[in-house]
Amino acid sequence: MNTHIVIAIDGPAGSGKSTVAKLIAKKLGIVYIDTGAMYRALAYKAYTMDISFEDEKSIAKLAEAIEIELEGEKVLLDGIRVDGHIRMPVINENVSKVAKIRQVRDIMVMHQREMGKKRSVVMDGRDIGTHVFPNASYKFFLVADIDERARRRSLELIQKGYEVEFGEIKAELENRDMQDSTREASPLIKASDALEIDTTSKTPEEVADTIIRLVRTEE
Ligand code: C5P
Repeated sequence: MNTHIVIAIDGPAGSGKSTVAKLIAKKLGIVYIDTGAMYRALAYKAYTMDISFEDEKSIAKLAEAIEIELEGEKVLLDGIRVDGHIRMPVINENVSKVAKIRQVRDIMVMHQREMGKKRSVVMDGRDIGTHVFPNASYKFFLVADIDERARRRSLELIQKGYEVEFGEIKAELENRDMQDSTREASPLIKASDALEIDTTSKTPEEVADTIIRLVRTEE
């Protein structure tokens, strides 16, 4: 394999990015970086501190003050593991408000570029191919039907013990995608040179293998 590669995987919520990215990381022996977890950790911190998600100034300040580290699946917020908390419904519903703040994005993107500079990574998010690593070696944009995405997200939440209502989950995903796609600062959009993959009727293994094949043939 090339000495240093960046695989960028973007797409809307529930399109399979993180499951696929984790598989790719495992199969290629490279590092997986879940950039959504960083925005989620910040939203979670604001939530625990009772800071309003609408209070952009305080949230931007908070982003400067906290330390977020990613170690495989572990998400550490000021040294404490929070990955068990950052996917709860209140964070799903509000994370986009935090992620649209320009100063917040500048800080997160700086960390993300730092992480991808030193070693080969597969990074998933919304703006990896367009903004974080516009020169990434490989760029993919995953999409899937909204009903399938809502089904996947409902299953994930049920497995974590939450009670879910399919219609609510679907509305939350649609709402989040709308906010992420229409914000001013690096919105969710397919990079012109990214390859779109529809994951609706594919297994994560199939999608990961397709990507790995493309990465290997181009080497
Ligand atoms: O990927 P995930 O669904 O966990 O991301 C949570 C939220 O974080 C997204 O809905 C989006 O608002 C924000 N995000 C972002 N840019 C990224 C990754 C995530 O704005 N690169």
